Amino acid sequence: MGSYRACPMNCRYCSLGESWGLVKKEGEFNDQEVIRIAQKYVEEGIRWIVLRTTQFYSPEKIIALVGKSKKP
Ligand code: SF4
Repeated sequence: MGSYRACPMNCRYCSLGESWGLVKKEGEFNDQEVIRIAQKYVEEGIRWIVLRTTQFYSPEKIIALVGKSKKP
């Protein structure tokens, strides 16, 4: 997860849709926070991780973040 925002697209399967009213505080994890969280999951034995963002997050940023996350 990179960004956490209420999203006007309101996809039925997604908890970030603003219609549900579940997002009380919006924010965005920086690269180091994302990498730290991913490392924690890896250390606990997780085998794959899905990075999710809202539609507001730049595809270029997520591509760069995936590259950084893969480095040991
Ligand atoms: S964040 Fe993505 S999946 Fe969720 S409501 Fe918005 S567009 Fe749909």
